[in-house]
Amino acid sequence: MKNLCEFDYSSPDKDIASLKRSIVYKLMFIVGTFPEYATESDWLNATSYAIRDRLVERWLKSTKAEISPEIKQVYYISMEFLMGRFLTNAMLSLGVYQEVKQALLELGLDLGSQIDLEPDPGLGNGGLGRLAACFLDSCATLGYPVMGYGIRYEYGMFRQKIINGEQHEIADNWLENGNPWEFPRHEAQFQVNFGGRLQQENDKSLWIDTLNVVAQPYDSIVPGYNTQATDTIRLWSAKANNALNLGKFNKGEYLEATEAKDRSENISRILYPDDSTLSGKMLRLQQEYFLVSASVQDILQRHYHLHNRFDNLKESIAIHLNDTHPVLAIPELMRQLIDNHAMSWDDAWEQTICIFSYTNHTLMGEALETWPVEMIGRALPRHLQIIFQLNDKFLKQVKTQFPDDNDLLRRVSIIDEDNGRNIRMAWLAVIICHQVNGVSELHSQLMVQSLFTDFAMIYPKKFCNITNGITPRRWLALANPPLSNVIDSYIGEGWRTNLEQLGELMPLVKETKFLHQLKDAKRMNKQNLAKLIQQKMGITINPDALFDVQIKRIHEYKRQLLNVLGIITRYNRILQNPEKNWVPRVFIFGGKAASAYYNAKKIINLINDIASTINNDERIKDKLKVIFIPNYGVSLAQKIIPAADLSEQISLAGTEASGTGNMKFALNGALTIGTLDGANIEIGEHVGFDNMFIFGNNAQEVAALRQRYSPRRYYDEDIELHTVLNQIANGFFNNNDPDKYKSIFNSLIEFGDHYQVLADYRSYVDTHDKVDALYHDENAWLRKSALNICQMGYFSADRAVTEYMQRIWKATAISLK
Ligand SMILES: *Cc1c(COP(=O)(O)O)cnc(C)c1O
Repeated sequence: MKNLCEFDYSSPDKDIASLKRSIVYKLMFIVGTFPEYATESDWLNATSYAIRDRLVERWLKSTKAEISPEIKQVYYISMEFLMGRFLTNAMLSLGVYQEVKQALLELGLDLGSQIDLEPDPGLGNGGLGRLAACFLDSCATLGYPVMGYGIRYEYGMFRQKIINGEQHEIADNWLENGNPWEFPRHEAQFQVNFGGRLQQENDKSLWIDTLNVVAQPYDSIVPGYNTQATDTIRLWSAKANNALNLGKFNKGEYLEATEAKDRSENISRILYPDDSTLSGKMLRLQQEYFLVSASVQDILQRHYHLHNRFDNLKESIAIHLNDTHPVLAIPELMRQLIDNHAMSWDDAWEQTICIFSYTNHTLMGEALETWPVEMIGRALPRHLQIIFQLNDKFLKQVKTQFPDDNDLLRRVSIIDEDNGRNIRMAWLAVIICHQVNGVSELHSQLMVQSLFTDFAMIYPKKFCNITNGITPRRWLALANPPLSNVIDSYIGEGWRTNLEQLGELMPLVKETKFLHQLKDAKRMNKQNLAKLIQQKMGITINPDALFDVQIKRIHEYKRQLLNVLGIITRYNRILQNPEKNWVPRVFIFGGKAASAYYNAKKIINLINDIASTINNDERIKDKLKVIFIPNYGVSLAQKIIPAADLSEQISLAGTEASGTGNMKFALNGALTIGTLDGANIEIGEHVGFDNMFIFGNNAQEVAALRQRYSPRRYYDEDIELHTVLNQIANGFFNNNDPDKYKSIFNSLIEFGDHYQVLADYRSYVDTHDKVDALYHDENAWLRKSALNICQMGYFSADRAVTEYMQRIWKATAISLK
């Protein structure tokens, strides 16, 4: 075979004329149309191909450098990746943003509208999937040899429409105009098996009579910023093994002929749009196994090509599990090593326990994955057998180590015998993985004090914390050009890859000129958002008002309801005292509710009903507006966050593992109003608690209150709260259906207010008064905003992935000649 170096795969030029030529060339030769007839979407695809070409040289170089027995390769397996749009990120990485903009202009096209045409692949629900995307961006930028594995869902997160105040879900057919960013790899397919039965032959277990599905990979380039280094994200798509039953087709049984094909391909059809709750469906189990089986086969094949042996596997690879969703990778690796590669059980175990690591993302019971033994037995009988063997070995060891604790075995067993017979996926992860990390200091502490106490005693060294981070490329450079320009003018462009450099701005915080430049940047972003809201929703908002933003999944633990109680309180107060010098406020919400999550959908409805009452109340004028922007996702976040003055991070203390939205806002100069929860605490430690607004009970107080909590007491004793809750219960915001929100009232008063909204209400409302007071003092506000921006360097995902590399994956960067 010829050496790759003998071929010219150097990148095409990046000047405006070359870009123009490439775009038109791609339009004709790839898209296959004339400039005169091209649609907007044809042009977008042509532009994307032209930009992609310029990444390929880097990609081939990086890939080649990673194909070496010397390199320890890291695999990051995640059921979700929320990558965001590719085009602008690729342009930024290549340093051709202005050139492309100009090239398009000269072709009569507007970059802005091209950008908004690109589908935003919603292959995730929220924070967990976005974290995976930020991590890949950072790994590529730092030259870390990391490959992301996920599922190429044909339909991603649903598109959200609000009709009469209610959420409606529309299928997100994100691939309908093709995806220029993916490379299908027809040569790298694997077969994934389900069902069937076991047959014992001597000491071997044969898994036979299975159903088979083909996993077909699609690769996309993850470009590093301002470097030749790139990484790869490989997404699996399910294909039928025997596409068409020709026998049935020829007999005219057309539906039956394609039935098997449809059933197989359903596996990668849709993303489960659930956040923080477990659905426990067979199709979900199949998705999880499909992802890990294909990925493990791919990993082992790549390893064998390089090494011709498997006994050195643990030195050459690390596999990271993003939450428990890919935990079946553990028995799957055991199975493949033992059944397909003739390794002994003990040797396979020895390798497996050194290869895997796992990130825990939640302590909340309703989100913890368990699967009925019976269901795993049906879908994956061989894996069930291996899980039982792993469990036996583990329990024997525990029994020797702690012979006196009679209840311990029951508590730590992978099989939960108390509630039916269920496999606790988090237990399996903790027992096998060599490191288990939480995602903020508080969360990691609570993790070993609550969920994993027993395991922390058995494996004292296994648990650690790595606080989450965000990529400054997407969340500052791409999202906020006005602020980026101000920062560049003082300290240059280095912060994009070394966010701690923002600290160099500290001396400027005293200078009015700098503060006013920050103000102008914020003002420009607010104007842009006001324009978007005008265009999308026909509502006029005042860009000089305080923009108060809560955008995230709609979930009771995140307490959008607390925000709503605060807004109604403010509305009542304005009506009672219209002449007061009110700080005009615009409350902005965004977020999707899981399709089956009744209470979350009610909350969306309530927000919208309140919005229409308040926005149409002539007496209120500009003093208060409430906006629910539909279809929240990465692209909208990039537009909303730079325009925020205040960031609502108000989860019940002890429930939000980290949050990353909180980091995006603070980095963009919004002040946080928040509880002592997740990474809010560490943000406070870095930017100064004086420069944010902390309220409410802390995690300890929440736990203590849990024993004797009486929400009705707050309702009875706080007059303002009493009024607000009555308004919700009695149809004040929806005259034609007065009982519409009775269920929300009941969840708070009758059913225990599980997220202690009422306990924190008074503190929250009083803290908002302090926000108003500070906003009146413009320079004081700007100073705190600046102090946030300058001191957020720690929260770069570059720092986070470097910690993973050093402390968990034990791998190093590649070097590119
Ligand atoms: C950052 C981000 C999240 C996570 O937000 P939290 O406030 O931490 O829950 C969710 N969805 C999208 C689209 C994001 O960009």
